[in-house]
Amino acid sequence: MEKVCRGLYIGRFQPYHRGHSQVLQVIAEKVDEIIIGIGSAQQSHQTNNPFTAGERVLMVSQAVEKLNVKTYIIPIEDIHRNSLWVSHVKSLTPPFQVVYSNNPLVMELFCEAGIKVGGTPLFNREKYSGKRIRELMQTDKKWKDLVPKSVARVIDEIDGVDRLKHIAKTDDS
Ligand code: NAD
Repeated sequence: MEKVCRGLYIGRFQPYHRGHSQVLQVIAEKVDEIIIGIGSAQQSHQTNNPFTAGERVLMVSQAVEKLNVKTYIIPIEDIHRNSLWVSHVKSLTPPFQVVYSNNPLVMELFCEAGIKVGGTPLFNREKYSGKRIRELMQTDKKWKDLVPKSVARVIDEIDGVDRLKHIAKTDDS
């Protein structure tokens, strides 16, 4: 029986955007199955991590429905020891042979662990960036074109923009 080739793609997806979608389309051409790790799963309700792991699972699962490969979506909490993080990830995911990332720390940790790391092309990083999309949301500017329609629907459903605006306020006098 031929071995299934699985690739891991890990991100915070705060929120999932069209840059992530394009990367997944490239990965889908290279592997049989994709594991999508929802990183920093414990984080939410912060200006740089506004959405819960469950909300991000919803965003990603609806957006990847059109991919022609099987996907597994797995929330992964951070741990305080980078040197143990790869083992932590492996303990939570189905077996995989290759990791796709452009995050330098993620690439370094998997390389050191002897796992093959494939870089992914960057798609209009200035435009498709979680940080930029969160800033646009906070300042009432147009952001919906930068995420898949299904993701915009999830963010509307959870009143995500209002949440982001509320948590960005301070009570400093
Ligand atoms: P992210 O959502 O910012 O990005 C996910 C991936 O998409 C990255 O590889 C990024 O380069 C790529 N990407 C983003 N915009 C793109 C675009 N326009 N075109 C193409 N590619 C694009 O997530 P991230 O911050 O990279 O996620 C890494 C996760 O790993 C974090 O949750 C981090 O906390 C976790 N981590 C944890 C530990 C630990 O717990 N000790 C250690 C290392 C990493």
